[in-house]
Amino acid sequence: MSTARVVVVGSANADVVVDVDHRPADGETVLGSDAVVSPGGKGANQAVAAGRLGGRVAFVGCVGDDANGQMLRASISGAGVDVTALRTVDVPTGTAIILITPDGENSIVVAPGANRRVDEAMVEDLEWERGDVLVVQLEIPLPTVTHLVPRAHRAGARVVVNAAPAAPLPRDVLQAADPLVVNESEADLLLGRTAGLQGEDGVVRELLDLGPRSVVLTLGARGAVLAERDRNGAVRTVHVAAHRVTAVDTTGAGDAFVGALSLGLAQGEPLDQAVTRATAVAAHAVGRRGAQDSYPTADELSGSTP
Ligand code: ADP
Repeated sequence: MSTARVVVVGSANADVVVDVDHRPADGETVLGSDAVVSPGGKGANQAVAAGRLGGRVAFVGCVGDDANGQMLRASISGAGVDVTALRTVDVPTGTAIILITPDGENSIVVAPGANRRVDEAMVEDLEWERGDVLVVQLEIPLPTVTHLVPRAHRAGARVVVNAAPAAPLPRDVLQAADPLVVNESEADLLLGRTAGLQGEDGVVRELLDLGPRSVVLTLGARGAVLAERDRNGAVRTVHVAAHRVTAVDTTGAGDAFVGALSLGLAQGEPLDQAVTRATAVAAHAVGRRGAQDSYPTADELSGSTP
């Protein structure tokens, strides 16, 4: 098994989670449960997911000089992730306000805070070895992503671009993505659609036409579809079914998926195999409360089938 690194450059947030009967409508106030604060943020989640599975993982990000920052640092390093490039800055740690409804679905507002400090200068000196896997998402400033991705790609890293939350991306970022990972609403936005997506197979092909070398579209309880082009330019799509689990809390499921997928790629797995493992890891994550707290270790993953 290869020992290539997974380097996650991204956000770290304190998740403030409140259970509600329903999401508030315009002008409505809803009384919820007591708030529970736990470590989250797409970047930190992805790093922790890969770290817990036993990967060689580094996290590049920023937290504030506060209790939430300490909580995040402990969670990320506790997963075995290298936090040498996790900076403490003089801005509050990013915060996500998460409402969870009884069906396990969530609605999220993010206050970026320290994540805004993950700037171009911070990623300028990162060094890449061939085979490294760089993972980015879009909860850090977009110029950081557009600066970093083409450079890392040219230096020989494989780049996993998780376009979440969705934002239009420049062509050189899309072209470096291998894969581009999006959920259905993110795909909708990248493809400029408003009426909801139809036909998963067609959607992944359209996403591939945006320039990435490969695409993974996640479909919640329906699993994921991947698409890649062979040497002759022919497109191959594969559907991987989700595991059947009772959804307790879907927060961070997509991040668990991206973290596990990236680790698989760093370990030399073909995309299909990495997606299959990511699906199993994400199933664990939806079956337990929290984001990072819900991610399985390699032993937990092999010891049970959720
Ligand atoms: P996001 O969390 O980014 O919105 P998805 O909802 O598509 O992304 O979920 C990501 C992955 O998590 C899916 O591809 C699937 O493998 C897994 N997953 C999500 N929801 C469920 C569920 N209810 N049951 C089983 N697996 C799920």
